[in-house]
Amino acid sequence: MIAYCTARPGGQYSRDLETRWGNSLPALVSETLNFQCPSPHPRVPIPVGLLACQRDPLLRELSTPVVSCRVSESSAVPSNGRKSKKDKSSMQASAQPLLEVVLHDTILFPEGGGQPSDIGTLTSADDQLWDVVEVKRHERQHALQFLIPGMYTIVQLGEDGFKRRYDHMCMHTSQHLLSAVLEARLNLPTLSWCLTAFPSPCYVEIPRGMSLAEITLVQDEANKFVFEGRSVHVEVEEFDRNEIPEVAKDSRSTGKGVPADYTGGIKRTVVIDGVDRNLCCGTQLPSLHNLQLFIFPHTDALSRSSTTSARLYFLSGPRLLAHLASANALLTSTAATMSCGAPEVPERVEQVVEERKRATKRTEDVEAELAAAIARDILREAGPGKIVVHRHRTDDATNALGFLSSISSAFANELGSRPEVPSHLVVLSSSPSAQTMSGTTVIMIFASDEKVVKEVGEGLKGKLNIKGGGKGTRWSGKFTGVWKEGREGLLVQEVLKSVNA
Ligand SMILES: [Zn+2]
Repeated sequence: MIAYCTARPGGQYSRDLETRWGNSLPALVSETLNFQCPSPHPRVPIPVGLLACQRDPLLRELSTPVVSCRVSESSAVPSNGRKSKKDKSSMQASAQPLLEVVLHDTILFPEGGGQPSDIGTLTSADDQLWDVVEVKRHERQHALQFLIPGMYTIVQLGEDGFKRRYDHMCMHTSQHLLSAVLEARLNLPTLSWCLTAFPSPCYVEIPRGMSLAEITLVQDEANKFVFEGRSVHVEVEEFDRNEIPEVAKDSRSTGKGVPADYTGGIKRTVVIDGVDRNLCCGTQLPSLHNLQLFIFPHTDALSRSSTTSARLYFLSGPRLLAHLASANALLTSTAATMSCGAPEVPERVEQVVEERKRATKRTEDVEAELAAAIARDILREAGPGKIVVHRHRTDDATNALGFLSSISSAFANELGSRPEVPSHLVVLSSSPSAQTMSGTTVIMIFASDEKVVKEVGEGLKGKLNIKGGGKGTRWSGKFTGVWKEGREGLLVQEVLKSVNA
């Protein structure tokens, strides 16, 4: 017997095979299963594999009896892919206990086979709405639904739930298509795949990296099937675990295995007409129509201890549009900053980076020349004999202390070229041009005598509330606030005099 079901709540199931190809809903075909849908026993849950979401993945609402309901032993709200703190805190803010509800049937897909769980709502008989935050398989029979307590009769995906599900279906069906083409054209099996959280690209893991030409070939081939709008339907059989080997949870392995976490009791084969047959418990789109596939033009190598494999990233449906929108926004804003058209952006950015490198080199050269000039100037000003100098600068450099350090090195070089090194004590300070109460003035002390350096450092700490320290003949520190030569400058002079006296 062939039963063909396109389930609607309370609806009729057509047994007319002719309507299968003309119907926009995915076909559910069974040659072996003696199963009436929905089950005539409202107190018995429908097995995973034949849930309403698996019979008709486009169904958004279902009226169904509750089988059981109990308060969850776990107080933690399942994260179910929620990553942001805001999402988590809004879930934790609810002081109400979690309920675990088993329904006779459901349109909310329970997590499994690499596809995350749906979210949605339940509406109780008293018209109150309850959030379903996670759906899980429960033993061999049914999905467990976690929710805030109440009475419930109508289960809905809602706007957010449907958006999430539609995105999952686009990525999942695309993965089946991509894996099939990889296998058929390049003999590349899919080792695993990951349905990542929106809007990140999903990926398949394959045994080796791929060239750009291979990726283009696979993308073209896959989109040929998309253009033809190949239909997708599901075949179901009763499932005997002993007959089929287990494979990893997110593995594919066409027709060879069923994920170890699959406990539904129903074997489902997803068929892309003329392209692929693959065991799968997930929800699939009824056709490839409009499912444009974009494959990122490179693979990421994965090195493990014994094997080397690669990840191939892909996008389709809402994620592809989100990616296009964000890529376009980035390009447009960069083009505006660069004052050029989008096609000129790479060239302009390269030009700016080159110019920046040259400018940095020139700044370094000019700074070295300036540091040497300042060092000579200090020596000239000090005249013969003992050198005791404070020199203040105004400088908006990001590393003003680095420049003071360059002056001290240049000063040491100048002294090195003299036949006799004179006794010296130099204090350099540097403030930004716009001074504020929280602004920083940097200070550097260097001298021929270590002891003097330490003494001046301690003196400045005491009189000016400068924080700093040093080693050997160099000391550096920071002053926070407005630096005035008639005030802070004079205090420096006082410290120099007291040390010198
Ligand atoms: Zn699948």
